Order: sequence, then C-alpha cells, then structure tokens
Amino acid sequence: MIIFQQAQPLQQHLAQQRQAGLNIGFVPTMGALHPGHLSLVERSKNENALTVCSIFVNPTQFNNPDDFRHYPVTIEQDIELLLGQQCDVLFLPSVAEVYPPGYAAPHYALGAIEQRLEGAFRPGHFQGVCQVVDRLLQLVQPQRLYLGQKDFQQCMVLRKMLALTGRADSTGLVVCPTFRESDGLAMSSRNLRLSPEERALAPAIYRALLSIRAAVGKEGFDQLKQRATEQLNSQGFRVDYVEIAGAEDLAPASAATQNPVALVAAFLGAVRLIDNLPLN
Ligand code: AMP
Repeated sequence: MIIFQQAQPLQQHLAQQRQAGLNIGFVPTMGALHPGHLSLVERSKNENALTVCSIFVNPTQFNNPDDFRHYPVTIEQDIELLLGQQCDVLFLPSVAEVYPPGYAAPHYALGAIEQRLEGAFRPGHFQGVCQVVDRLLQLVQPQRLYLGQKDFQQCMVLRKMLALTGRADSTGLVVCPTFRESDGLAMSSRNLRLSPEERALAPAIYRALLSIRAAVGKEGFDQLKQRATEQLNSQGFRVDYVEIAGAEDLAPASAATQNPVALVAAFLGAVRLIDNLPLN
C-alpha cells in the first residue's frame, strides 16, 4: 500500500495508473476504521483494479466543535487494517492539502433534503460533506465511489452532489449495506467513545427499528414513532428524531409511501448515534 499525504504526488500516481487502463474505486473515511469501513474496501477491491481509501477528519462537516475535538483517531491501527485488506493507496492529507489557500468552498443547491432530519439537527453539515467529497473526487477521479447505507441521508445528498457537479457521468455510486455488531448495534467510529454502560444500552436503537418494522401495517406511523421515541428516552437516550420517511426524498411517510425507511438519531451521553432500517 502506498501512503500519500500530499495531493500532487497522489494525483501523479493515479494519472499513471489511469493511463495504464486501471479502474479506480474510492472509499472516503474519517478513520477509526472498523469492519464496516473494511467491507467497503473489500467491495471496491472486488470491483476495481485499484482501490484508494482516504482518512481525513473533515473540519467543515462538524457543526459541534466538541464532536470534532473528540473524534477518535487510530491511524496506526487503521494502516494495519488497510494493509490486511490489501488496500492499494491510502490518502492521509492535512487540512491544507484538502483545502489549499485560495480554495473557495462552493455552495451546493441540495434542495429540501438538506433541511430534513440530519440537516435540521446539524446545520451546515451536508455542505461540509459535499465540499470534502467533491474535493477528494477531484483529486482521485475514481470510476466508483463506495458509501455505507449506515449514513442513509448522506448517500442521498452525495448522489445529488454528483449530479449537480456533473461527476455522476464519470463516477458511479455504490451503496453498501450496514455492518452491525453481533448485538445489532451499527458499527461506527463514535462507538469507541461510549462508556461500557452506554455501549450495553446502545443496541436499543436497532431493536427500536426492528420493532417499528415488525409493527408496520398493524399500527400507524405516528404511533410507531412516538412509542419508539418514548422507549428510547426512558432508557436514557436523548432522541433527536425517530422518523419514518420516503426513501426517495426523506419526506415524512404516509400509508401511501412506496419505500418507507425508519431513521433514528439519539444521544447517549455526549455521543450521537444514527441508524436506519428500510421497512419493506
Ligand atoms: P465515516 O468514517 O464514518 O465517515 O464513514 C466512512 C464511510 O463508511 C461512509 O460511507 C459510511 O457510511 C461508511 N460506514 C460507516 N459505518 C458503516 C457501517 N457500520 N457499515 C457500512 N458502512 C459504514
């Protein structure tokens, strides 16, 4: 695995590979890697001649400075894991490499999706996500971009960004299934910040999603959302939202919605967890 910390040598290397006819798959991450991340790398390895992973904790997507300050960093271990996965290239840039002097952050006209759910609770978050992925795509120019369904709304936002920037013509989006711990908790770098007591409570989010899915058709969506919210709050979570929304636009679902998905965001102590489950 070749590790690049600077944009220019990375671009040079990838240009050579591209000229040699190699397809590039790209897995952007913020590090503190876990098997969920590695499943994206594995999928890319299976579908492309060359796999590039990036690790960059992007400051522009954090609406909460404490969340940014406490974001877990485990670079040595990440490198070992990527070596084990036979990742070809790791891009490990500084903030100045990603956003060089003179970089002017574009505004992405994401429409209503930007204001919903995560967008409502994390103002500016999706502009930051689009900025960093747009910039990384500019450097890596992959044929395929690998994202996790764990971040359901992020996948939708980035699909829109690809369309808005014209990148959708050259870069295909591959959405990979959510990897879970054996007790159902969705794997997340932020799980590292949970105390043992919080870690034991955390799978209640997935259980809430499963009980919503089991009750669809028997009870109304409003009732299901309210019960899940009350249950999580009573167990010590601080729920931002439990929503049932259309998978195409994330607008609140009605009985007529074709592909409803349940989505949850809730704090355990200082750690904010998100998860989702398609209901069909
Ligand atoms: P992050 O490092 O959290 O920004 O995540 C990097 C990529 O890995 C994103 O596309 C995430 O959606 C994806 N990802 C994170 N957690 C999981 C998981 N448990 N299963 C599958 N993909 C995941």
